Amino acid sequence: MLGLLREMPSNADLVALAKERLYPNYRPAPFVLARGRGCELFDVEGRRMLDLCAGVAVCVAGHAHPTLVKAIADQAATLMHVSNWFYNEPNIRLADELCRRSGFARAFFCNSGAEANEALLKLARHHFYGLGQKDRVRVVAFHNAFHGRTLGALAMTGTPKYHEGFGPLGPVTHVTYGDADAVERAMGRDVCAIMVEPVQGEGGVFPAPAGFLARLRAIADHHGALLFADEIQTGIGRLGRFLGSEGSGARPDAVSLAKGLGGGFPIGAMLTTEKLAGALPPGTHGSTFGGNALGSAAALAVLRILDDEGLLEASRTKGEALGAMLRQLVQELPEICETARGQGLLWGLVMRPGFVAREVLPRIQEAGVLLIGAGESVLRFSPPLVVSMAELEEGVRVVRGVLSALPALKATA
Ligand SMILES: *Cc1c(COP(=O)(O)O)cnc(C)c1O
Repeated sequence: MLGLLREMPSNADLVALAKERLYPNYRPAPFVLARGRGCELFDVEGRRMLDLCAGVAVCVAGHAHPTLVKAIADQAATLMHVSNWFYNEPNIRLADELCRRSGFARAFFCNSGAEANEALLKLARHHFYGLGQKDRVRVVAFHNAFHGRTLGALAMTGTPKYHEGFGPLGPVTHVTYGDADAVERAMGRDVCAIMVEPVQGEGGVFPAPAGFLARLRAIADHHGALLFADEIQTGIGRLGRFLGSEGSGARPDAVSLAKGLGGGFPIGAMLTTEKLAGALPPGTHGSTFGGNALGSAAALAVLRILDDEGLLEASRTKGEALGAMLRQLVQELPEICETARGQGLLWGLVMRPGFVAREVLPRIQEAGVLLIGAGESVLRFSPPLVVSMAELEEGVRVVRGVLSALPALKATA
């Protein structure tokens, strides 16, 4: 088929070929993105779209940021990969930078979020195995949580539709997010770790209630278990601080990072305290690509951009502005919107029952704004942290236009 593609294929040409050849486990929008700059994306026919999802909270520096592009190009031309049999300098520097910024002591590298969570799970089990507590294998996690698609990460994910047909999984006990008493009841001598997102992202953008993480820290300590924060979506400035769990009054024993860490280049990490440095000795865990020089250089560039452009501060101030705009929208369209909730530059516009994100998103995309869903009925805003106020205003204006037309659409349907 590829030979049949025209030299400058249309969206329709490419989508037809994609439907024939790509494994059909996704349901992508019916156009093909070709290039990006900042918060703008262009499809193969040159149509501009405003990107307020950033590849699921990944492209924190926007698209084609010159600093990130140059770092990747220079590193690719110097050294990409040597395996973990050998050190490489960008990786050592990245480990040091991440530890200094987060207050953790050790960094392990992998290539994705699910892999980082698998590392956490193996860390917990092997830590207690080493202490002779071999029965500590169960995790306490939360309904609605998302931790990834590999079997261990999937077991911790608290959404039944992701589990169906993939069992047996576990052992994991899921309790209601925000309910510390339920966590207390779920604890036992077999629990190795409590796993929590500082804001539940995929599940529908639910920020943790005040004091919740601190309660979890106390519960974990009381039962001799570890506390892990999945910071894959909430880390790297997304919530207006380097890690989402900062300022919560609770320091986790370890965290997972991915998404924004490479600004679009695939890289994941697990950060741990010094206490856990002995839990996974040589031979017990690893990754061929993990810690490669290219991904490390990309992540170092992202950290430099965060500093140079004051993106943590920007995430706070622009996030507050976005929140105010979305709350205003909820007031204007009370029959469609239920509420807006979020922190930093991670917001959910919650639609009323009957409105399904998967049905509304294509209309917003047709109107030129890229958003994604979270849960069933939530429109998620996770723009690049470099987004401008004008772009946020444009995005909310377009969403307002599409949402105000929905009841009429329903009536004529
Ligand atoms: C996206 C995400 C993951 C999974 O990351 P992958 O890179 O897709 O494996 C895990 N946890 C959270 C909180 C996420 O948002």
